[in-house]
Amino acid sequence: MMKLKDEQVETVHETEQDRMLEEGKREPIIILKDVAKEYKSGVHALKNISLRIDKGEFVFIVGTSGSGKSTLMKLLLKEIEPTTGSIYVNGFFVHRIRRKQIPKLRRTMGVVFQNFRLLKDRSVYQNIAFAQKAIGVPAVRIRKRVAEVLSMVSLIDKVHAKPMELSGGEQQRVAIARALVNQPMLLLADEPTGNLDPANSWEIMDLLEEINKMGTTVVVVTHNREIVDAMKKRVITIEKGEIISDEQRGGYTHGEY
Ligand code: ADP
Ligand code: MG
Repeated sequence: MMKLKDEQVETVHETEQDRMLEEGKREPIIILKDVAKEYKSGVHALKNISLRIDKGEFVFIVGTSGSGKSTLMKLLLKEIEPTTGSIYVNGFFVHRIRRKQIPKLRRTMGVVFQNFRLLKDRSVYQNIAFAQKAIGVPAVRIRKRVAEVLSMVSLIDKVHAKPMELSGGEQQRVAIARALVNQPMLLLADEPTGNLDPANSWEIMDLLEEINKMGTTVVVVTHNREIVDAMKKRVITIEKGEIISDEQRGGYTHGEY
C-alpha cells in the first residue's frame, strides 16, 4: 500500500472509490494485506492474513478457540497493532492513523460482544443514549434515535429497565441497539450468541441479518455451527492464525469443532 500523509487518506479513498465504481466493482469496507500478529508473549495469533470484505456483505468468521478470530476483530478496531501488514477499514488506513484519529475510526463501527458489556447501573435508555451523548448529539435527537433503534430490536417497552431485569437475549438486543445508534457502516459481532440458548441465538442472528438487509455490513465471529450452516452466507474459516477457507454461501464444514 502507498505511503500517505494522514490528511491525504480521505482523498485517496474517494479516488479509489471512483476507480472501482468505473470498473463496476463493489466498494471494499475492509482490506487486510499480509497481516501478521505476534503477541509479546511470542504467540503468533495471526499469520499472513489477506482478505477483503465489501460494503453490504454479511460474513461469518469461524474457527476453533484460539485460532485468532478475536485478534482479527481487535486489529480492525485498532485495540492492538499488527506486527506486519496493512489494514484498511471504512476509509482509514488503520495501521497508520494517529492515536487522535482512533475515536473517529471507531465511530464508523458498531461492536457487539459475547458478554453484552452493558452498564449495569444504567437503564436501557441510558446505555444506548450514552454513545450519542459522547458525540454531542442534541437531547431531542437522542430521544428520537434511541426510540428508533429500540423499536428495531423490539424492546421499546423495556426502555426504563436495568440490564439485570432483562433476559440474555434481551440484553444482547440492547447491545445491538447501542451498536447501531450512531448509524455505523460496519457492525462487528464477536461470538454474539456465545451466552445464549438456541432460540435466543436465532433471534439475534435474524436481527443481524435484518440489519444487513437495511444496508449495514455485518461481520460475525461465531461457534454456532447450526446457524452458520443454515444461513448460507460467506464463511471465512481461520485455523491456527491462517485463513484455511473462504466460501460464498458456505457452511461450517471445515475441521472438527
Ligand atoms: P479466538 O478469538 O479465535 O479464540 P484469539 O484471537 O483470542 O482467538 O487468540 C489467538 C491466540 O493468541 C491464542 O493462542 C491466544 O492465547 C493468544 N492471545 C490472545 N490475546 C493475547 C494477548 N493479549 N497476549 C498474548 N497472547 C494472546
Ligand atoms: Mg475470541
